[in-house]
Amino acid sequence: MHSLERLNAEQRRAVEYGDGPLMVLAGAGTGKTRVLVNRIAHLVRRGVDPREILAVTFTNKAAGEMRERLNDLLGIAAHRMWIGTFHATCARLLRLHGEHIGLSRNFTIFDDDDQKRLINSLLKDAGLDDQVRARTLVSQIDRMKNRGDNPADAVGGFGDDVLRLIYPQYQKRLAQEEAVDFNDILLKVLDLAAHPEVGPHLATRFHHVLVDEFQDTNLVQYQLVKCMADTHRNLTVVGDDDQSIYSWRGAEPRNLLEFDRDYPDAAIVKLEQNYRSTQTILDAANAVIACNRNRHEKALWTESAAGEPLLWEESDNERDEAEFVARAIKGLVEAEGRDYSDMAILYRTRAQSRALEEEMRHYRIDYRLVGDVSFFQRREIKDGLAYLRLVLHAGADSCFERIVNVPARGIGKTTLGRVREHARRTGMCLLDAARAGVRGDIGSLGAGARKKLARFIQLIDGLRDVSAAGASVAEFLVQVVERSGYRDWLESENTLEAQGRLENLAQLVSMASDFDEESDGEGTLAEFDVRVSLSSSVDESDGRGEGAVTLMTIHAAKGLEFPVVFLCGMEDGLFPSVREREHSDVQDAMDEEYRLAYVAMTRARERLVLTSARMRRVWGESKFNRPSRFFSHIPSECLAVRARPVSLDGGPGGHGSYSRGAPEPRPPRRRSAHSAGRARGRVRQVDHDEFDQRTYEDDVPAFDADADMAQVAPPSAAGRRRPGRRSRRQRGSEDSAGLAAGSVVVHATFGAGRVLEASGPSGSRRLLINFDDAGLKTVLERFVEPVASP
Ligand code: ATP
Ligand code: MG
Repeated sequence: MHSLERLNAEQRRAVEYGDGPLMVLAGAGTGKTRVLVNRIAHLVRRGVDPREILAVTFTNKAAGEMRERLNDLLGIAAHRMWIGTFHATCARLLRLHGEHIGLSRNFTIFDDDDQKRLINSLLKDAGLDDQVRARTLVSQIDRMKNRGDNPADAVGGFGDDVLRLIYPQYQKRLAQEEAVDFNDILLKVLDLAAHPEVGPHLATRFHHVLVDEFQDTNLVQYQLVKCMADTHRNLTVVGDDDQSIYSWRGAEPRNLLEFDRDYPDAAIVKLEQNYRSTQTILDAANAVIACNRNRHEKALWTESAAGEPLLWEESDNERDEAEFVARAIKGLVEAEGRDYSDMAILYRTRAQSRALEEEMRHYRIDYRLVGDVSFFQRREIKDGLAYLRLVLHAGADSCFERIVNVPARGIGKTTLGRVREHARRTGMCLLDAARAGVRGDIGSLGAGARKKLARFIQLIDGLRDVSAAGASVAEFLVQVVERSGYRDWLESENTLEAQGRLENLAQLVSMASDFDEESDGEGTLAEFDVRVSLSSSVDESDGRGEGAVTLMTIHAAKGLEFPVVFLCGMEDGLFPSVREREHSDVQDAMDEEYRLAYVAMTRARERLVLTSARMRRVWGESKFNRPSRFFSHIPSECLAVRARPVSLDGGPGGHGSYSRGAPEPRPPRRRSAHSAGRARGRVRQVDHDEFDQRTYEDDVPAFDADADMAQVAPPSAAGRRRPGRRSRRQRGSEDSAGLAAGSVVVHATFGAGRVLEASGPSGSRRLLINFDDAGLKTVLERFVEPVASP
């Protein structure tokens, strides 16, 4: 057995602290997570049974790392502990005990998209789908669940009426499908805790409960923690109020600050030595967070050297910004011998990754995108899992609807309408209603329709037999792809896109193989389903990424560290994403942006590079932003600025360590007129007053020189219409003809996309649009705003 990791006196005090509640409240990089890991190792050595230890982390990835480190410290014992996120832990408890509260062992999890689809179909049934957006309702329901509110209590206007109507139907449908949404996973464990048989067991089974990143727990999570630590009261929480960045998901940093109210006997340990960053990075981060109100002042110091100043690079636009980052990364690899995996690129919003990814590919830099959930949102993946779910739960109507005709089986709308009607009248699920139809119970169904339905039912029954015969999850999925006709269908399409979709399905099968291997073939379809649902829900890495640069949002970077960090998009309006601190209702939001900045900056160990772009396209529109206000708080001696670099070779006064990469040739790029006449390649100390003297206009200046830009409407926050902007109705020629194929448009729900084809009479014209994020959709023309003509 190895000894513990190196610890300072305060850390050791926390690690070796005896029984009872304990809180470690300390700034970034002071070793809080290290304390947690070593405290667990210490407990096991003291004789605590590993099965009676529960450690809660913020991401599955953090859980994996913690288990690995404990494996190094303790060996096999580490595998018997409960280490996981709140959701993973609760899903496991539900699988064990859910039957006591009427939940099947094989429950499935509804993600965002499933929720939205279900709500949408309920709205449709109620004839309300053109008045209320499913997304709005989903977030209302989520919020209510987060707070533990009752739908009956919603008494306001029309919106609340809809909520009171739909919410119970939504819960009923979830129950019918043996499904839970993400909030339910936690809430149902609270139900378990209140159950006369299971409750006492839950309250005693964990002798030690330890929670990392406690500042980001919400009320429900804190309640769970309290329930599980109720009997033994051996509860250790660690956190940093300055790093609370999830209030938008209901996190309550007060949980941390008021911990000693609930546990007056709690020991409190504060750590002050930072082991992660250089003095310069710390000074800069501390100066930014010092601007916030209502915080616990923390003294942070380090023994590390001052290190390099932060570098600020200002580019013309997001492409130049991304190119700068790519070249700087190449330069650092070539000049300093750094590894790609030493480096991370952080950004405020997911949408920023696109330009960055493009440049990474262009410069042939391996990268991994953390938090890319799009894989699990893909149509073919959702279809494959829908087969699995329908096999598990005959009552999964949403899955039935999804796949009954995918691939096409000639089961028509009329047939389905009759099946639905029969289901509604008899209270059956759709699959059973279809069975009844095949038996002849639905008089209006013709022989042809019955035959087609029969074939579909045979398919599902056959797959159930495959599973019952003990097939592994991977084998099962292969059978799904084969027997459903999915493979034949995609192969016959013979397009690149179809080929890509087949490859995605192949990847799902490989994931299932990994799962089978990990679980020694004992893992069930239902467990795989839950695993997939949980890994697609939070910011996770896809597991690859040895020797690759990491790209992720700041939120996903919590708790992590990298020798080199690039922090992109440092512009007011983007980061911070709100503009006015003075306005009272955004004051809290602005405080959170400052905490985000603190989290982002303190991820860096040796070098921190900040980048901003003067112009950025958001949803197809050009926006001009001032550099982020965060710059004005960073002490000037900590920051070196490049106003307009053309070369990274390290000119006079430049950072000689950056050298030019060797990209593939590419056509010259148009520069916006805006940059003309700016100083080039100059390195200077920042002059804060300069921000106010520069004229960063909110509105786009004349773009006459740039044909591309001439079409672009004036920028506005998140694509909202601004006064003075011409509406489509005002545009003469487009009005009569409607939007042509090739036009770029923005839709309130689906974002930006390009029109592929238009059909129908004016007034109710429908457009087939390829949305950047939402994929292909047909929408009514009047619901989109044009951004640019073809
Ligand atoms: P965050 O607030 O970002 O979650 P943290 O407080 O959890 O940070 P850790 O990630 O545990 O901090 O530690 C930060 C870094 O400092 C890690 O690289 C860790 O290995 C190192 N470290 C912590 N304590 C010590 C120590 N006593 N001696 C040497 N290195 C240490
Ligand atoms: Mg930590």
